[in-house]
Amino acid sequence: MARVAVVTGGTRGIGKAISAELLKAGYKVAANYAGNEERAKQCADEIGCSVYKFDVSDYAACEDAVGRISAELGPVDVLVNNAGITRDGTMKRMSHEMWKEVIDVNLGGCFNMAKCVWDGMNERGFGRIVNIGSINGQAGQYGQVNYAAAKSGIHGFTKALAQEGARKNITVNAIAPGYIDTDMVAAVPEDVLEKIKQRIPVGRLGHAEEIARGVLFLVSDEAGFLTGSTMSINGGQHMY
Ligand code: NDP
Repeated sequence: MARVAVVTGGTRGIGKAISAELLKAGYKVAANYAGNEERAKQCADEIGCSVYKFDVSDYAACEDAVGRISAELGPVDVLVNNAGITRDGTMKRMSHEMWKEVIDVNLGGCFNMAKCVWDGMNERGFGRIVNIGSINGQAGQYGQVNYAAAKSGIHGFTKALAQEGARKNITVNAIAPGYIDTDMVAAVPEDVLEKIKQRIPVGRLGHAEEIARGVLFLVSDEAGFLTGSTMSINGGQHMY
């Protein structure tokens, strides 16, 4: 039986590449999105996944969506918490709303979705959860106290939840991407991006597919001994 995977923010950028890679490997994929109908339809037509619109920062909406996905595709075996947003600004300019929105989507979304699939994974004795963190959660980044805090939180969340799932064959890992050529990075001013590229030892931005291949490995049966870890896929920009 094909395993069922939910990819939050799975219709654009890194998430779309993850959805496509999982589909190719034989998973049934539910790709979530927040509101960009055009790109969601384009994604569904192009790669053939099912798409589900809901806000990962809204717990009741996540509960409802996981219920619908389970009824339509089957119980959720794999969760990829990929949905993320930026609302950048220095501390001086950052409003409380910018802080809260980023924490609620990027970090709160991971809790909401994991909570909704957790009991089922425990009952069935199998689960794979991959949380998409960021190099900026590992190293910090000027103008991103909200984003860096949320992403850094993801790494702690991953290690704690991994300990709870281990005996039930549920692995929980994180991937910390470096700079990847998606819409999110296209929003960075050209001169800033040039400076960033100069700091990447491999000399280029990453591709979404390079993150997706990491996810594919982490969710495989063969990766059952790998839990609580962070895979850094960043072209050598940050090593530790
Ligand atoms: P994009 O901005 O290209 O895509 C974001 C996706 O998340 C879209 O599908 C979007 O839906 C969805 N989304 C946003 N907010 C919500 C929400 N509240 N509820 C549900 N879905 C939501 O992002 P990237 O592909 O660049 O990034 C993917 C992940 O990787 C993020 O977590 C990001 O922080 C992380 N990352 C990205 C890096 C990069 O260089 N690109 C570097 C390091 C980490 P919609 O289309 O409807 O808006």
